[in-house]
Amino acid sequence: MKTKTNKKKIPALIGRLLALLGENPKREGLKETPRRVAKMYEELLKGYQADPKSIFKCFDSDEFSGMVIISGIDFYSLCEHHLMPFYGKIHIGYVPDGKILGLSKFARLVEIFARRLQLQERLTKQIAETLQKNLNSKGIIVYCQARHFCMSMRGVKKGRSQMKTLVKTGIFNTDKNLLEQFFRQINLPNKVK
Ligand SMILES: [Zn+2]
Repeated sequence: MKTKTNKKKIPALIGRLLALLGENPKREGLKETPRRVAKMYEELLKGYQADPKSIFKCFDSDEFSGMVIISGIDFYSLCEHHLMPFYGKIHIGYVPDGKILGLSKFARLVEIFARRLQLQERLTKQIAETLQKNLNSKGIIVYCQARHFCMSMRGVKKGRSQMKTLVKTGIFNTDKNLLEQFFRQINLPNKVK
């Protein structure tokens, strides 16, 4: 999925927003802000330009048939409801069926989907579905824990609360031991549901 951005028009729009918020966009501290914010959005939303399929250069699993876990992948994203950051960790597990994927590719995949306007639920689902589609496996599990600035800074300030989302496919839906093993390995023994 690609989106067209109109980079040239964004700084003027941010300047207008600052004025509408009651600020003076011409004052010293704000002079460069519209340009900086435009540049920042470009960087934070660059995931639209990347094709998730491009990372799938898989290797033979050499008959390895256990579970592979990639835990604690840091991510930063923007919630599409408020354009505020949400950030946290993503843990991925899979049981290979002939193919494996290099470690760095998982972080790259997370990055591609996180650098878009997102919902945590959709982010978790997109990562799981893309792995399910492009990596031969007996099952995929993706577990995401995140804090949302739109929740911490607004309304009832539940600053410490986290949101957790889980998507699993294949063998993770049927093999309870495997599921428990996954949560033990990522050091979250009580999170099994
Ligand atoms: Zn939000």
